[in-house]
Amino acid sequence: APTLVWFRDDLRLADNPALAAALAQERPLILLYVLDEATPGLRSLGGAARWWLGRSLAALAADIERAGGSLLLRRGPADEVLRDLVREAGVVSVHWNRRYDAGAIALDRRIKAELTRAGVEVTSHSATLLHEPWTLRTKSGGPYRVFTPFYRAAAPLGPRRIVPRPEALPPGPDLPGDTLAAWHLEPAQPDWAGGLRASWQPGEAGAHEVLRGFLDHGIHGYAERRDRPDSEHTSRLSPFLRFGNLSPVQALAALHHAAEAGEALGRDVEKFRSELYWREFSYHLLFHNPDLATTNVNHRFDSFAWRDDGAFERAWRRGRTGYPIVDAGMRQLWQTGWMHNRVRMIAASFLIKHGLVDWRRGEAWFWDTLVDADPANNPASWQWVAGSGADAAPYFRIFNPMLQGEKFDPDGAYVRRFVPELAELPADVIHQPWRAKPEVLARAGVELGTGYPRPIVEHGAARERALAAYHRSGEE
Ligand code: FAD
Repeated sequence: APTLVWFRDDLRLADNPALAAALAQERPLILLYVLDEATPGLRSLGGAARWWLGRSLAALAADIERAGGSLLLRRGPADEVLRDLVREAGVVSVHWNRRYDAGAIALDRRIKAELTRAGVEVTSHSATLLHEPWTLRTKSGGPYRVFTPFYRAAAPLGPRRIVPRPEALPPGPDLPGDTLAAWHLEPAQPDWAGGLRASWQPGEAGAHEVLRGFLDHGIHGYAERRDRPDSEHTSRLSPFLRFGNLSPVQALAALHHAAEAGEALGRDVEKFRSELYWREFSYHLLFHNPDLATTNVNHRFDSFAWRDDGAFERAWRRGRTGYPIVDAGMRQLWQTGWMHNRVRMIAASFLIKHGLVDWRRGEAWFWDTLVDADPANNPASWQWVAGSGADAAPYFRIFNPMLQGEKFDPDGAYVRRFVPELAELPADVIHQPWRAKPEVLARAGVELGTGYPRPIVEHGAARERALAAYHRSGEE
């Protein structure tokens, strides 16, 4: 009688506790992935994430085959798929690694109860986080709402041990399944994924290559340079972590190894480690605020007078707001499925505060276009920028997109890369082209208004409008 491993947000063979536990049972092994677009309450993946999933599954299937096993693909409501499979193959034991969003938790609980009643042993494992969200509690017993005390409590605990990669996988029973191609996870017409293919190699091997490259290069100066979108100093591990091509435990262990070998400076190591814990903190918030993606953590914002402005939103999505740093970010997102963290903050702030557009609309666009679209990090970060979250930036801190651009992209290299219309402008005007003298614009071939847009709102006026809206929301 076989054991079944249900892969979800853990698309890797190494450091996979569910897989390791199943292997230890020394039975025939069914390795399953379910494409579930039917269970109510599960948030369906956005376009860019579907692309990543497709590529990751292809890589995982190939890795599994090399090790002697095979990956079974089935589509449908996960409870039905598992029920059928247990019956078909006489499965006696099921292992999976946990998920943390409310819809998935509810589904997993339901399946576990049903299978247990049917006499199947179901075991869930911790694999996706350094610490389970319910194990960390403040002194008064509640969940954390502020990052620093959370980090101080969590970091000394140390993560679980890494589980080694299995050398071989036993073959499973021959069962009918779908082909990956039949799932159409990658776009065909139009094929918008060219920029994604050029930027990423999803899967476990790709993850380790990126991690190694980061620890060899990017980590040096990370603490100082991580805010600079014009340099390659962040790890770009986010989509790999999102889909579990790599675990945070592996990332942390590799980081500590590099530190011990004297290959990285303490300050850089500490900063990177704390970023991994920001991810943990987002999951802590999600677990304790199950409707994080739809509901303000701070209810003051429930009465906020968001504007319904389709033209503004469209300009933002297309990278045509007339603010070069915002536009560069939005185009980087569209082309590559990823955006630098500093620019995510600037672009999100611009939509919410300069546009007075509800943060949930921005969150939804990111959800659809980011390869790292994450059920915890995305809503937590949007609420952080909006000021509606736990431990959020105060609403009245309104980024000035010109100053942000000048500070973090001082030579304009990032803008030049993603907004080629402005490539010939000198650095002193590239973040505010409307200030450039006509002859400077002419020399650079920039025609404001027809080629590159003029600012969609004036910064000072937008700022005043945002502050006024904020004060009104507090009066109700
Ligand atoms: P690095 O600087 O190399 O950091 C390493 C890892 O730490 C990241 O891969 C990520 O897992 C974690 N991390 C880093 N910064 C943060 C942060 N601020 N919050 C939480 N975790 C962090 N991150 C996502 O993974 N998915 C999202 O959907 C997402 N949406 C965001 C939306 C907005 C509006 C903002 C402001 C931020 C969002 N982030 C999101 C957080 C952050 O921007 C990305 O994690 C980061 O840019 C990924 O790049 P990196 O891997 O090179 O980061």
